[in-house]
Amino acid sequence: MAKKSREALSEEEKRPITKTTLKKLLGIFKFLAPYKSTFIIGLICLMLSSVMLMAFPFFAGKLLDVASGKSVPYFNSINTIALLLMGILVVQSIFSFTRVYTFAIVSERSLADVRNAVYKKIIWLPLTFFDNRRVGELTSRITSDVVILQDTFTVTLAELIRQVLTLIIGIGVIFYFAPKLTVFMLLTFPAIILLALVFGKAIRKFSKQVQDTLAEANVIVEESLQAITVVKAYTNEWFEANRYKKALDHVIDIALRSARYRGLFISFVIFALFGGIVAVVWYGATLVQSGEITIGDLLSFVLYTTFIGGSIAGLGDIYAQIQRSIGASERMLEIIEQNDEKEDPVHPLKLKGDISFNEVSFSYPSRADYQVLHKLNLRIQSGEKVALIGQSGSGKSTIINLLMRFYPLSQGKIVVDGLDNTSYNLTAYRNNIGVVPQEVILFGGTIQENIAYGKPGASEAEVIAAARKANAYEFIERFPDGLQTMVGERGVKLSGGQRQRIAIARAILRDPAILILDEATSSLDAESEVLVQEALEKLMEGRTTLIIAHRLSTIRKVDRIFVIKEGKLAETGSHAELSQQQNGIYSNLLKLQLQ
Ligand code: ADP
Ligand code: MG
Repeated sequence: MAKKSREALSEEEKRPITKTTLKKLLGIFKFLAPYKSTFIIGLICLMLSSVMLMAFPFFAGKLLDVASGKSVPYFNSINTIALLLMGILVVQSIFSFTRVYTFAIVSERSLADVRNAVYKKIIWLPLTFFDNRRVGELTSRITSDVVILQDTFTVTLAELIRQVLTLIIGIGVIFYFAPKLTVFMLLTFPAIILLALVFGKAIRKFSKQVQDTLAEANVIVEESLQAITVVKAYTNEWFEANRYKKALDHVIDIALRSARYRGLFISFVIFALFGGIVAVVWYGATLVQSGEITIGDLLSFVLYTTFIGGSIAGLGDIYAQIQRSIGASERMLEIIEQNDEKEDPVHPLKLKGDISFNEVSFSYPSRADYQVLHKLNLRIQSGEKVALIGQSGSGKSTIINLLMRFYPLSQGKIVVDGLDNTSYNLTAYRNNIGVVPQEVILFGGTIQENIAYGKPGASEAEVIAAARKANAYEFIERFPDGLQTMVGERGVKLSGGQRQRIAIARAILRDPAILILDEATSSLDAESEVLVQEALEKLMEGRTTLIIAHRLSTIRKVDRIFVIKEGKLAETGSHAELSQQQNGIYSNLLKLQLQ
């Protein structure tokens, strides 16, 4: 499975260069627009420095001619020419510096813009988008794809321009000096290029394979370290070590095969290059002998030829790089062009928390053939506390997801405070809902920041008050750094009950009209449960509360219980009413759990 998706990804990696795919690449170039003038300065410097470098072989040839006693118009001393060459080099290096620096300004700024645009887009995309994507895939958009584009904006573009200029100017100049020799030289090229293409393809194929097998080996490390407790509990250290060794042996195998091709290729290139030079020098020497060209011309010629050869080789890399960039920009635009759910609130909204589900039917977009809710009807009054119970998979969390507007309904309506809930501004609407989830996730940062997540900008006094109400301040105070204690991946580890109370403090700060507790106490030990339960009761006061619970003992005090079965409402009533029912689902469950 993992292997398959990787293959699919690598196939995506490159794109053929066509009109439409090039358009995609240009679509990304619009991010350069704000830095146009800096970019143009860079381009000009690039062109000037490339052109100036092209003068080098010309003057070197003249130098040789003067040295060998020929009279050369304008330049008649070796020293003048040498000084001129130095001058060119100095000016050239100023241009080079400016080019590198201006391009860096443009690429860093515009790529930050791309990253911001993609991240902003992703974070505002509806959950339906995330159901079909792996998180790793999305983060690689912002990380590796953007790096590919960065190379395109700077190195690739610069190289393309430089190589093309080198090619045109180089061939033009030598053709002017020594037309016969140029034609002879150009005739040796096609054979070399053809062979280079064949070898290049094989080498790329192998290096891809090396990368893939290495990635497979890395997956083993990643998986086993993530599940290190499982590995140890099953004493499978040897098993994993062998698995990794085998994967690495495979890597060596393929890497060495790739190295054989590379070795052949490199020795071929050296052979062809020097063979070509020998042939050109030989032919050139005969022309010098017959007086058709000077010895300086021959030197210029050979230097130009190596420049040209280099740029032709460089163009191959550039071609591959452009293909990769097209792939990256396509993937990036795919995200940027998605419809997001961003809605900035215009007016603040203060709901009372009357909720009713009217004939709500629903299937998840990622599993359209499986209907989760069937014409569900629920009515919850403002301030009422209700519990949703039912077997796992019956649709409780789905009901919450729909109330949160994480997914669009297939059929029916959810009415909140008398209005279809889709008629509210999404952000303003969600601001009225607070959630204490089963598995509380803390962000890297301080405890204070994590509590203030419920109400960005909350003062320290507010945070402390909320923490007190949530029965959290006591344990927070016991940390040496108090509220400033770092939590999350690089901070202290909090117990499940402590994290729950932080989540409760978050919700208290948020002060929502509708409160959702998704199995909030199911994973706690008895002591934490008492503290959390107490905090929850304070939190629930005066709010419409929906509790999803497995353990019936925790929901005795709710006003009403909804028993959900296979996406339908099976029973409703208070604990007292439902527990009296002969053979009811709730009363049977109750008996089971009491035993
Ligand atoms: P409960 O919370 O009662 O255990 P859920 O509402 O989580 O049940 O799930 C109801 C059904 O919907 C299950 O069959 C589950 O597999 C399916 N389901 C839940 N979430 C998704 C999702 N994001 N995509 C597709 N199917 C889902
Ligand atoms: Mg659930």
